[in-house]
Amino acid sequence: MTNDPAPQTSPQLHYRSCNLCEAMCGLVIAHDGRHVLGIRGDEDDPLSQGHLCPKAFGLRDVYEDPDRLRTPIRRTKQGWEAVSWDSALDETSERLLAIARQHGPNSVAVYQGNPSVHNLGTMLFAPTFVRALGTRNRFSASSVDQLPHHFVSYFLFGHQLLLPVPDVDRSDHLLVLGANPLVSNGSMMSAPGMRRRLAALRQRGGKLIVVDPRRSETAAKADAHHFIQPGRDALLLAALIHRVLSTGGATLGRLGPHVTGLETLRAAVARFSADRVAAAVGIDAATIEAMADAFAAAPTAVCYGRLGVCTAEFGAVGIWLVTALNVITGNFDRAGGMMFASPAIDVLGQTGRGGHDRWRSRVRQLPEFGGELPVAALAEEIDTPGEGQIRALVTSAGNPVLSTPNGRRLEAALGGLSFMVAIDIYRNETTRHANLILPPKTGLEVPHYDLIFHALAVRNTARFADPLFDGDHDGRTDAQIFRALTRRLQKGATTRRRRSPLARAQQAAQQALTPTQQVDLALRRGPVGLWGGRLLQRDGLSVAALRAAPHGVDLGPLQAQIPGRLFTSDQCIQLAPNVLVADLDRLAALLVSTDVVDTPTFDLRLIGRRALADNNSWLHNAPTLMAGRPRCTLHMHPDDASARGLLDGELVGLRSRIGAVQAPLHVTDAMMRGVVSLPHGWGHGRSGTQLQVAAQRPGVSVNDVTDGALLDTLSGNAALSGVPVAVTSAAPLA
Ligand code: SF4
Repeated sequence: MTNDPAPQTSPQLHYRSCNLCEAMCGLVIAHDGRHVLGIRGDEDDPLSQGHLCPKAFGLRDVYEDPDRLRTPIRRTKQGWEAVSWDSALDETSERLLAIARQHGPNSVAVYQGNPSVHNLGTMLFAPTFVRALGTRNRFSASSVDQLPHHFVSYFLFGHQLLLPVPDVDRSDHLLVLGANPLVSNGSMMSAPGMRRRLAALRQRGGKLIVVDPRRSETAAKADAHHFIQPGRDALLLAALIHRVLSTGGATLGRLGPHVTGLETLRAAVARFSADRVAAAVGIDAATIEAMADAFAAAPTAVCYGRLGVCTAEFGAVGIWLVTALNVITGNFDRAGGMMFASPAIDVLGQTGRGGHDRWRSRVRQLPEFGGELPVAALAEEIDTPGEGQIRALVTSAGNPVLSTPNGRRLEAALGGLSFMVAIDIYRNETTRHANLILPPKTGLEVPHYDLIFHALAVRNTARFADPLFDGDHDGRTDAQIFRALTRRLQKGATTRRRRSPLARAQQAAQQALTPTQQVDLALRRGPVGLWGGRLLQRDGLSVAALRAAPHGVDLGPLQAQIPGRLFTSDQCIQLAPNVLVADLDRLAALLVSTDVVDTPTFDLRLIGRRALADNNSWLHNAPTLMAGRPRCTLHMHPDDASARGLLDGELVGLRSRIGAVQAPLHVTDAMMRGVVSLPHGWGHGRSGTQLQVAAQRPGVSVNDVTDGALLDTLSGNAALSGVPVAVTSAAPLA
C-alpha cells in the first residue's frame, strides 16, 4: 500500500520501523528533507516482510498536523498562552515540589499512556523522573488492558516482563480467545502481516479456532468460531484443562523437570468439567471437550488469549489458564507452541522483576502490582478528600478521560487538582485540564529502537532508525523533557531517596547519555542468550551495525530457553501459584448461577471493538485515518434489535450503572445474542480541545459507560468486557 506522493524530483528514502503499534512494521518513507512524500511497507524487513496498515500514514499526518503543539503552553484565565521551555520546566518542577513538600510525595500522581511504551526516550528517561517524584500513586494504561499478563509472568516465571509469545509461524493449531490479530497484527505478540501468517498456517494443514462473543475479522477466517459469554473465558479454559488432564492428554514433554504444581492444578480445576461450565459460557459440553481433544492431539498447538480474556473480572486467572493449557499439552518453550523471544537488547536484567501488594490504594485498598495502582482508582484518589489525597497529576502521552473506566468521573476530578502538567502533543480531552502542556517531538523527529516489542515478537530481529526530520521548531524530545524535569526535581528536593552511591553514579552516567548512545551500549553489551542450547554472547550488534542494515537484522526464529530463561528461585515454572489457585473460588461462584444477566434493568453485555485505522484515542486527528464510514457505532444482533423495536442506522441510547451515551446502531449477526459492542478511543469534540479533525467525527466514549467498580480484583485490571448495559431507542441521556 502506498499513498500517492506528489510529483517531486529525486525523493530520498528513509527506513525505520513504525512505532505506532506493537507490530513494528518496517517502513520505507520517501521524503524531500522536509515533507513525507510517500510510505510503503519494507519488503526486506525480516519481521514484517512488506506489511503495513493504514495507521502508518498517521506518522505523516501527526508530523504535519497544524493542531499539534510545538511549544509549551500555559492555561490562564484569558486562555492558553505560549511559554518558553525554561519557564515551563521551572514552573512544573516548582509546583510539583511545593505540593509534595506540603502534602507528601504521594500527593503527586503520574499517569503514563500507551504510546509511552513505543517511545525510546520515554522508556529510557521517564522511570528516573518517576523515581525522583517518589510517589506511590503511579498509574498507567497497563491496568486497562494488560496487567494480567504481567501478573501471571511474575508468579509463573519470576519476572513480570518475561512474557511468552505464540510461535504462530510454526504452529499447527492456533486457538484464539478474545483477540482479533487480523486487525491488531498481534498484541502482546508482535506479528505484522497476520493475514499472511494465518494463510500459511492453513496452507500447511493447520487449524485456526476462534472463541469470541463477536464474529471478528479473524473469526470470519477461522476453521471454527464459537461465541462465548463475555468475561467467561477463564471458565472455558478451566474446562479445557480439566478435559486434557482427565483424558490422559497431558504431557509436559521436555519441560517435565522444570515444572512444579501439576497435581495442584489438577485438583484446582476438578470442579470445572465441561458439563458444569457449559451453560455459564454458552458453549455446549461436547464442543468444549472436542476443542480440548483437538488441541491436545495437534502435532503442535498454541493457545493465545488477549483482551477478551484479560480485561475481565477473572483476567489474571484467564491468562494463567491460557499459559497452563500450553504447558500441560507440551506446547510451551517449543517450536509451534508458546515461547520466549530473545531480543538483542534484553531489558529484563535492567528492570525490576515485579511485586504484588507491597502497598494499597488509599480509598478502596486495592493492591499495587509492579509498582502501579489500578487506574480505575485514579478518579477516587483525586476526588476523595483526606490524608494522602492526590493533588497534582503528571500525564505522559495519555488521555485517560477517554481511555480509562468511568472517564466522566475522572474528567470532573481533574478540575479539582491543584496542579496538572501534561507531556503531550495535543490539547485533548484530558490535557485540556492541565495547567501546562509540554509537547515533545513526534515519531519521525526522534531516533527509534523498540526496547519492548522485540521481546514480544514472533521472530527475533533488530532495527534502529535515526530521526528523519530535525523538526522546524524549538522542540524538545521526550528524553530531553524528562531529563530536564528530573534534574530540577533532584536539585530542589529537600530529602533524598535512599540509594547507594553506586546506584546514584550509575543513574547519573545513564542520564548523561543520549537515547542513541544508550541503545548502542546495550547492543554492544549483550544480551547473553541461549542459542541452539548453548550460551552465547551475540556479537557484532551496535548502532553502527544496524545503521549499515537499514532493513533490520534477522536474528532467527524463537528458541527454546527453559530453564535458563526463568527467574524463579528453583528455575521451574510455577504452574499453580497459591494466589491464582485461590482465585478459582471466585470463578466457581459463576457456576452457582447460570444467569448471565445481573438485573432486568441491564439486560445486555457490552464488549469493545477495534478497527484497523484506529489507535486507541490518539490518531483521530489524522485526516487519512478518519476517511470512510463512521466507525463509532453500536453493534447488536438482529434478534436483540427486533425485541427492542430498533432499526439499523437509528440513534440508540446505551446506558450502564454509571452513565449513558448515544450511538448509531448497526444490526449484525456477527454479534452474539445478548451482547453489544462499541469501540474505544472515541468521544472527541469537547470544549477546550484542539483536535479539529477529530471534532468533525467525535463519536462517543465507551468509557462514559464502563464502570470503575468492575475490576479483576487480583491483578487490578479494569473489567471492560461484559459490562451490564441496556439499549433503548432514542433514550434520553442520563
Ligand atoms: S500494523 Fe500499522 S500501526 Fe502497527 S506497526 Fe504496522 S504499520 Fe504501524
